Amino acid sequence: MFGKTIVIVNYHYIRAEQCDNGIHAISIEGFSKQLDLIAGEGYQFISLEDLHRAICRKNMDFLSHKACLVTFDDGLKESYVHGVDVLDRKGIPAVFYIVTDPIVEQKVLPVHKFHYARKMMSDDEIWGFITEKFDLPGTAVAEDVLMEQYPWDSPSSARLKYLLNFQLAQEQQVRVVNYLFQMAYPNDESAYANDLYMDQDQIIDLAQRGYLGTHSQQHKVLSILSEDAIRNDLKNSMDVIFSLTGKRVSSVSYPYGGYTAVTENIGKICRDLGMISGVTMFRGINTINDIMYRNMMLKRVDMNDMLGGKSEKVYKELAYGV
Ligand SMILES: [Zn+2]
Repeated sequence: MFGKTIVIVNYHYIRAEQCDNGIHAISIEGFSKQLDLIAGEGYQFISLEDLHRAICRKNMDFLSHKACLVTFDDGLKESYVHGVDVLDRKGIPAVFYIVTDPIVEQKVLPVHKFHYARKMMSDDEIWGFITEKFDLPGTAVAEDVLMEQYPWDSPSSARLKYLLNFQLAQEQQVRVVNYLFQMAYPNDESAYANDLYMDQDQIIDLAQRGYLGTHSQQHKVLSILSEDAIRNDLKNSMDVIFSLTGKRVSSVSYPYGGYTAVTENIGKICRDLGMISGVTMFRGINTINDIMYRNMMLKRVDMNDMLGGKSEKVYKELAYGV
């Protein structure tokens, strides 16, 4: 690739063991190895502050030829406990994009309830339960649409995720997911929320390091909400983070982050709220053009597509066109 570049890598779950049942967790060892591979490629790891300096100055002269920013979405406790540990040992900064409602209300997000249900039940079992109990929309979805959104999933898994995240109305999505989660986890939801999400001390630590961003208040697909609802969701999340930490966040990771979930207008709303950067799940490596003109729509590379990942050829195509 010509000129200086910034690759922004995205992570979610990080566990002692690699685990693949619908959640694509990386192991602690796998994470450490991947960071070594990235460094071995000649990347310099940068902080959110470095990224924002480049955006505000509109130049990348002070960065090395290849820069890499590590990001974690969803505010998962395991990303703090295991992720920060590995990063600190290597002296690598990162950004953790947290969702505020689950932390404040000790409730599990529908997306994570669904992950848990899928861990405990097969796709066929889930289809059986929900088609028996609920009246679902019969609209077929083209396979390329499914694969664009969920490139690492089997067709049946992508179909199920797409139904839940994009096709069902909000209330029905919540009803279906609650039903599945209650079957898989009959105990008190707040206990699971406490295990799953970061606590206040961890969030304060990240804020003090300059490692914190917002991933919205409720992790909704923002593109289907009204402009006021989008603004309120993001503003509420920023206000909660300020009241928890005394720091203002200035970077956002849009929930889901794909082309169906993020629009230019959402980026504009975030800029108006005082954000300096926005990260999507649009696949790609950022150049000076992105830094200067597309700072609210920055591209990312999922860990699976990065060096050492299941589909590292995606990174190689992006970086070398091979
Ligand atoms: Zn997310």
